[in-house]
Amino acid sequence: MARVILQNVKHVFNNVVAITDISLDIPDGEFWVLVGPSGCGKSTILRTIAGLETTNFGKIYIGDKLMNDIPARKRDVSMVFQNYALYPHMTVRQNLAFGLRMRGVKHHLIQERIAIVAQSLVLEGLLERKPKQLSGGQQQRVALGRAIARQPKVFLLDEPLSNLDTKLRDNTRHELKELHRSIGITTIYVTHSQVEAMTLADKIVVLQGGKIQQVGTPQTIYNQP
Ligand code: ADP
Ligand code: ADP
Repeated sequence: MARVILQNVKHVFNNVVAITDISLDIPDGEFWVLVGPSGCGKSTILRTIAGLETTNFGKIYIGDKLMNDIPARKRDVSMVFQNYALYPHMTVRQNLAFGLRMRGVKHHLIQERIAIVAQSLVLEGLLERKPKQLSGGQQQRVALGRAIARQPKVFLLDEPLSNLDTKLRDNTRHELKELHRSIGITTIYVTHSQVEAMTLADKIVVLQGGKIQQVGTPQTIYNQP
């Protein structure tokens, strides 16, 4: 778990300014949601925090460490995209274990961790299945579980529910909230859905044209005239 700080971050793609003047201070363990129209820079913010884009302007801190020159694989960040990609030849259990095995975590600790994640995401009955034996919603829950099982300091989610049908989306949203409640990891979540923003966020960041328009609680953001 860690505080995430962005100071005047700007990102330019071939002379096009994707984000600018982005300053955020996200306390340890909070759940922040980024909203705004397509192209306003939500994904770019996540990708710069993850280290998938190089930050040349401004500063990014995770905990008290400056991240600008730290490569993505060393940032202790997990990111989940809208199109989950599970390892097809592995069971759910093996998918959940993968990141931990790569880091050399002991077998019994891996199994303990899997049990906790499987319980919060309702995957207990599915652990020995392969991804193709799962529904879309179940696969996305495994993708979320796999990302969180690694125990990253920061969890980044880019519209993780938007490929699911309405009912699955509601269920998975509740499970995600439960998971966050039980683990309390600092989370930054991109969505187009007001329902998701309202129900999940500690704070909502409204973006437009690559800039922050407003930061506030769901109440202050959505109750305005
Ligand atoms: P959002 O996630 O809010 O839809 P993005 O962060 O994907 O917005 O994009 C912000 C802006 O940056 C858009 O104008 C988009 O076209 C541009 N952009 C994003 N990624 C790239 C890229 N790899 N190359 C060039 N322009 C990009
Ligand atoms: P979303 O709107 O869901 O954030 P996009 O469809 O805008 O995602 O972007 C998907 C991918 O394409 C991202 O990796 C993004 O960086 C890249 N991308 C977005 N806009 C551009 C662009 N104008 N030129 C090149 N790549 C882009």
